[in-house]
Amino acid sequence: MKTPPRFSSAPITFALAALVSAVVAPLTAQIDTVQTIAPGVYFHQGDLRRGHSNNGWIVFADYVLVIEANFPSGAKVVMPKIKETSDKPVRFAFNTHHHGDHAYGNQLWADAGATIVANQGALDEMKTAETGFFGGSPGRWEGAAKNRPDVAETKLKPPSLLFPREMAFDDGQRRVELKWLGVAHTKGDGFVWLPKEKIFFTGDACVNGPHNFVGDGNIAEWIKTLEAAKKLGAEKVVPGHGPIGGPEVLVDQQRYFVELQRRIKALADAKKSPADVKAALPAMATELKAIANIARFVPVSLAAHAEKIYVELGGAPFPK
Ligand SMILES: [Zn+2]
Repeated sequence: MKTPPRFSSAPITFALAALVSAVVAPLTAQIDTVQTIAPGVYFHQGDLRRGHSNNGWIVFADYVLVIEANFPSGAKVVMPKIKETSDKPVRFAFNTHHHGDHAYGNQLWADAGATIVANQGALDEMKTAETGFFGGSPGRWEGAAKNRPDVAETKLKPPSLLFPREMAFDDGQRRVELKWLGVAHTKGDGFVWLPKEKIFFTGDACVNGPHNFVGDGNIAEWIKTLEAAKKLGAEKVVPGHGPIGGPEVLVDQQRYFVELQRRIKALADAKKSPADVKAALPAMATELKAIANIARFVPVSLAAHAEKIYVELGGAPFPK
C-alpha cells in the first residue's frame, strides 16, 4: 500500500525549488540580454540551446567593433540589439577563433558593411577545417549545414584583416588591443583587451561553465596561455560561453585543466592503459566536482578532456 503524501513534504519541496531557482535564475536570466560592462562596452550572453556564442561590442567615435560573428542565427539576434545601443555602423567583426559558433555568421556582418578580423592562426585553422571552401572535400561547414538551416542558407566568409600577434583599435579616447597569447582552445585564439577599463574578452580560450571543447587545441599549451592571460590583470572577464565574471574565471578555468592533467599524468606515469584511465573517470569527476572553484567546469563526461591529455602525454586514444 502506498503511503499517503505527508503534508510536511510540500513546504520542503517548495523551499527546495525556491533555492534551486535562486541559484539557477541569475545564470539563465542573463541569456539573450544586453549588459553594459562599461560606457560603450557591451556583453550579450548567447543562448547555448541554439549553439550561440557570447558576443561583445565596443563603440568607438566612428564605428562599432563586434566580438564574435556567432552563428548566422546568433548574428541575427544580436544585430538589432547593437543598433539599440549605438547609431554607429559595425565596421569590424572579430572572430576570436575559427569555430562555427564564432565565425559562421561572418557573411551577415560583411553584408552589413563590416570587415572580418582575426589573427593569422585562426585563418590557418579555418583552412585546415574548412576543406570544402578551400577547394577540397566537404569540411566542417558542409557538416554543420546538414543540421543548421541558418548555415545552409548562408556562405562561409573567412576573415580578411589578419594580425600575427597583436593589433590595436585606438581613436584617441578608447583603446582595444587584439592579442594572440599562445595555443589554447585552438592554434588561433585571439583575445580582446581593454587596458583602460581592464575588461578582457577571451573567446573559448576561457569559458565559464562545462563548455570546454578540446578537439582542436592543446591542453598543456592552453594552461600556459591562460597563465599569460592572467598576467594582464583583468578585472572583468568575458568568456566565450557562460556568464561574465571577474579574474577568478581565468583562475578557475586554468585550475580545472591543471587538476585534471595532474590526475591523468599520475595514471599515465603508473603505466595505466587507455581502458584503465577511462574506467577511472567517473570517480575522478566526483573528486573534481568536490573542488568548489572548479566544479562548474566538470562536464557530464570527462572522456574527451581526459583522452586529450592522455594522448598529449604520449598515450593511445581510449577504447570506444
Ligand atoms: Zn570554439
